[in-house]
Amino acid sequence: MIKKRQTVSKRKVLDFFKKHDHAISHELIEQGLSGSMDRVTIYRILKSFEEDGLIHKIVDENSKSHYALCQECNSQHVHNHMHFQCTNCEKVECLDYDLEVPMPNGYQLKNMQLIASGLCKDCVS
Ligand SMILES: [Zn+2]
Ligand SMILES: [Zn+2]
Ligand SMILES: [Zn+2]
Repeated sequence: MIKKRQTVSKRKVLDFFKKHDHAISHELIEQGLSGSMDRVTIYRILKSFEEDGLIHKIVDENSKSHYALCQECNSQHVHNHMHFQCTNCEKVECLDYDLEVPMPNGYQLKNMQLIASGLCKDCVS
């Protein structure tokens, strides 16, 4: 029974992500889903999605967490795209292009936390 409820909650969280085309802050996820599940459930689901390679976490300059859907990840996340955070509306977006960062011989790159900031197209005008 508990397992079934968990599945329904997971689907709700995933649907919430699919409604957005940018990363969503932890705060907004909690606000958006507060009617259907508690904070602990949300936290657990986000954690398991992250472990399953469904979403990745972006931590901004203010140490706030944002989550974005992954495109082609499995349990091993592979990301070399940058993120952009708007200094006005604080929205975080994944930028589409990959970055090539040269690594020293014998080093294996697993993750980069790169956030560019500025004004998004909605705030620039
Ligand atoms: Zn990923
Ligand atoms: Zn903006
Ligand atoms: Zn991203």
